[in-house]
Amino acid sequence: MFNIGIIGAGIGGLSAGLMLKTSGHQVTIFEKQPASFSSGVGIQISSNAIRILREFDLEDDIIKSGNYPLVVDCINGHSAKKITSIPLGDYARKKFNAGFYQLHRNDLISILKNKADDIGIKIHYNSAIIDLLQNSSKATLRFEKDQFDCDFVIGADGINSLVRKKIFFDKPPNFLKQVAYRTLIPSKKLPEFFSQDKTLLFFGSGKHVVSYPIKDKSLVNFVFCMDSHSFYDHDWTKQVPPLELCKNFSDFLVLKDVFQEIKSLKKWGLFDYPIMKEWYKNRILLLGDACHPILPYLAQGASQAIEDSYVLYQCMKNNCDEDYSTDFLKEYSDKRYLRVNKIKKASKQNAFLYHLRNPILRLVFHLLLKTAGYFPNFILQRFNWIYSGGPL
Ligand SMILES: Cc1cc2nc3c(=O)[nH]c(=O)nc-3n(C[C@H](O)[C@H](O)[C@H](O)COP(=O)(O)OP(=O)(O)OC[C@H]3O[C@@H](n4cnc5c(N)ncnc54)[C@H](O)[C@@H]3O)c2cc1C
Repeated sequence: MFNIGIIGAGIGGLSAGLMLKTSGHQVTIFEKQPASFSSGVGIQISSNAIRILREFDLEDDIIKSGNYPLVVDCINGHSAKKITSIPLGDYARKKFNAGFYQLHRNDLISILKNKADDIGIKIHYNSAIIDLLQNSSKATLRFEKDQFDCDFVIGADGINSLVRKKIFFDKPPNFLKQVAYRTLIPSKKLPEFFSQDKTLLFFGSGKHVVSYPIKDKSLVNFVFCMDSHSFYDHDWTKQVPPLELCKNFSDFLVLKDVFQEIKSLKKWGLFDYPIMKEWYKNRILLLGDACHPILPYLAQGASQAIEDSYVLYQCMKNNCDEDYSTDFLKEYSDKRYLRVNKIKKASKQNAFLYHLRNPILRLVFHLLLKTAGYFPNFILQRFNWIYSGGPL
């Protein structure tokens, strides 16, 4: 059995921790934020991740905390006309052998953290790693006043990963000339239209918006993405004045009631990060956003971190020998590389389609969507490789 140190108690770090602990490893997690840290944001979990969480008895908790969208309504953001409805709900559940859920990110973190606590994982909060080293016999994590030795380190420290920068590479990512804004608004302040059991997807010229209800439909989560030539940093926590968004999306008349209710708004830039072929170096490996940040156009960030964790768990299950070989790390990154790359590319294609500027191409895209809407099975079949795919 190995002594494993995990950096980051996000969705990836907690998932990996609880899976590896159930197969008998000793797991310690270090998180730079305090335990009380809260990020006001919704997150979507698709069937490919739910089938994995089911293996660890977490599906019921997700069902209790999550909203269960019955359809995705695609809407022309300029005219407010519905283009088509893509079925989710029981239809998708049968097809992919698990449902789709939308949650507050904090609720998903709590579900994973409670399970980690139940099985005896130590999580150290307010513990930012400032450096890490390795030699042939151990890896060492360095904190401001302390250090921790272990057999393996999992860098699950998110998009601005220190582990990636220190151990793998430190090249600047490519700004995609797109930015995203997000906000949460109490449902009672909005027309009922926004708190139905639906995901709403509004398309426009050079922009799109996604909204869905969370927290027993008491809140509605909004993400607004748009093309933007001015560079903007990647930081989930930066606040901007709501007026900026109102101006940029003033052509989305269907959202005018929404703009009036925005009290707090965050903005971040979207970047393209190269995905490495090998996700490990000796005793240190990467997982989740630290390794492969994915654009939000397929809502796969959290689900892919859960898939990474499960594949790592499978690969380590049969490799608990003290005379370890790094074969299982190679197996882990080989098994994940192609799928994650394919998802990254598909997400980029969605960015292109969702933001079409040419009115004729946009019309063709909407007509194709409308036609495909008469054959729901056909649309879902297109995504079969994502939602039926993955390790389980
Ligand atoms: C505050 C926040 C807001 C987010 N908002 C959105 C959003 O609006 N839309 C979206 O699609 N995705 C969002 N995400 C990302 C989404 O949650 C991830 O894509 C997905 O869950 C993958 O998870 P991860 O565990 O790989 O990374 P993350 O969820 O980013 O988790 C990484 C964890 O590592 C911790 N960490 C970082 N550096 C250190 C260090 N040096 N020492 C110790 N701990 C460290 C971080 O505090 C964080 O808890 C957000 C993530 C965070 C942390």
